[in-house]
Amino acid sequence: MTHINIIGAGPAGLMAAEVLAQGGAAVTIHDQMPAPARKFLLAGRGGLNLTHSEPLEQFLERYGEAKAFLEPAIRAFPPQALIEWANGLGIETFVGSSGRVFPKQMKASPLLRSWLRRLDALGVKLVTRSRWEGFDGTPTILALGGASWPHLGSDAKWVPVLEAAGIRVNAFKPANSRFLVDWSKIFRDKFAGTPVKNVGLTYAGHRVRGELMISQEGIEGGAIYALSKGLREKPGHPLIIDFRPDLTVEALAQRLTRPRGKDSQSNYLRKVAGLSPVAINLLRETGTAPDAAGIKAMPLKLLRPAGISRAISSAGGIDRNELDANFQLKKISGCYAVGEMLDWEAPTGGYLLQACFSTAVMAAKDMLRHVRSA
Ligand SMILES: Cc1cc2nc3c(=O)[nH]c(=O)nc-3n(C[C@H](O)[C@H](O)[C@H](O)COP(=O)(O)OP(=O)(O)OC[C@H]3O[C@@H](n4cnc5c(N)ncnc54)[C@H](O)[C@@H]3O)c2cc1C
Repeated sequence: MTHINIIGAGPAGLMAAEVLAQGGAAVTIHDQMPAPARKFLLAGRGGLNLTHSEPLEQFLERYGEAKAFLEPAIRAFPPQALIEWANGLGIETFVGSSGRVFPKQMKASPLLRSWLRRLDALGVKLVTRSRWEGFDGTPTILALGGASWPHLGSDAKWVPVLEAAGIRVNAFKPANSRFLVDWSKIFRDKFAGTPVKNVGLTYAGHRVRGELMISQEGIEGGAIYALSKGLREKPGHPLIIDFRPDLTVEALAQRLTRPRGKDSQSNYLRKVAGLSPVAINLLRETGTAPDAAGIKAMPLKLLRPAGISRAISSAGGIDRNELDANFQLKKISGCYAVGEMLDWEAPTGGYLLQACFSTAVMAAKDMLRHVRSA
């Protein structure tokens, strides 16, 4: 049996280990943390979004310019294969109203427990508190993660090791991150933690629908994450918020011709325009007139993305040109890299985990082919 090292016990590393062990390899996983898959467990706290049920063609578009790089791996191990794999671990899944796929229990811990039992039964060894410091000639799959939530293990301290081997690693940047806004104290105290539901957001020509959340320091939530690449790369534009995306400006203006009577302005806007208290106060906070044009297009000044340490994922990582079609490092024969440590990004919606799993399956299968033919 060929001995193979996997470095990193996140979802990508564990999946690579499973494929290799099932193929008959002797696998040891090393992770620098005291326990495996810390970020995966955190991901399960807000509901583990494993993948998405939309048609594959649409699914692949979510990877933007990295689509061509990831497409063969995702086609070879698509969302349906991931769902069947989870079912095989005794984890039932369901499709949420947004098309996102979750385990019925929502959490990651039951899946992880069942998965670790399977790996153990396959003879996979897991060595924790074991930090990888460089290549040693053993066939290796690196699955070291990106650079967000570094205290959970993915601290990107491996970057200089790869760079010393001549491998280009593009700077990590926050993806799917919060954005900072200079709220007044009154607004922050009253509305931090409040969702703003069913809004349309436009930034530098890109429009999305969804929900955002007011936080102490700014804004976050699915709709913001979906725009975060543009927000990060083309700073300086205002974010335009449409509080009534289902109504035309004309229809809204028509409603606002109704007399206000004895209603306060807030009550009037709530009744006539259907605005929530947070929306009404956002208009005040930004000094936007509460007329049809303002309600349909309120500009909000964003300061900058919040730091990478609390971003859901990171952009940047090993340059795509450093890898062959099976994610083998061109400069280090017999060594592959998978998961979030590669340079791609995607919005939330299950696209992150899907790409981590799919790249791991692709690399592990290729490694098996190599060791069998050696
Ligand atoms: C709050 C939050 C919620 C999320 N929710 C979702 C979601 O619902 N759906 C989704 O698709 N994605 C979600 N994600 C993203 C997803 O968790 C990550 O994309 C995924 O975990 C990346 O997997 P990975 O295996 O590539 O890396 P990681 O999970 O980061 O694992 C990398 C591992 O490598 C280890 N390591 C690093 N350096 C070394 C070293 N030098 N030596 C040894 N070990 C090392 C680390 O300790 C770590 O265990 C979420 C992320 C966060 C933070």
